Amino acid sequence: MPNKINLVFYGPEGSGKSTQADLIAKKYQLPHLSSGDLVRKYAKEDQGIIGNVCRETLTEGKYIPDSEMYVMWKQRLKEDDAQGGWILDGFPRNLTQAEFLNRKVEKYGQELNMVFFVEVSKEESIRRLIKRGRKSPDGSLHDSPERITERLKHYNQAKKEVLEYYQNRGILKTIDGERSIEEIHQEIDSLVNNIEV
Ligand code: AMP
Repeated sequence: MPNKINLVFYGPEGSGKSTQADLIAKKYQLPHLSSGDLVRKYAKEDQGIIGNVCRETLTEGKYIPDSEMYVMWKQRLKEDDAQGGWILDGFPRNLTQAEFLNRKVEKYGQELNMVFFVEVSKEESIRRLIKRGRKSPDGSLHDSPERITERLKHYNQAKKEVLEYYQNRGILKTIDGERSIEEIHQEIDSLVNNIEV
């Protein structure tokens, strides 16, 4: 079983990537670093500029600008628990974020071992998110049909470039996300198990 591995889970909201990231994190004892959790933490605790941007953006149901994401991730990847491998979930979400991550990984002499693209149809994604019904910090509905559609549009604009970037590096694995949690987990687990470090 490999240790000190670095993995990314990529896919639309509602793809189940967080559930899968969690299962792998537990099995391989790796920290599960969720981009959404990081943003929500800053929104709750940070009284500075970044916290303000996070609060406003979450309320609007949009994406955080890359520059703020970099500040948060630079800090997060420096923390002790991130030194022995990690699983990133929800970051990167576009090509420039992917390039940023690459620079960080190289700087620390690490390697990104595998990127799992958990694929679900737009319809399935919308259906799951409406069911999730998450609220924004101001109490409004983060998962309203309009906001979901807006975020998925944004995601789709970035998707092709992100997938190409990792495809060209030979580390992209596309996973059919419209199966049972267990089936998906088994497939990802066997791929992780075969990573040579
Ligand atoms: P999530 O829990 O992954 O749905 O993330 C919650 C929210 O945090 C998103 O709707 C975005 O506003 C923000 N966010 C999380 N990750 C990113 C990212 N990589 N780039 C931009 N915004 C992000």
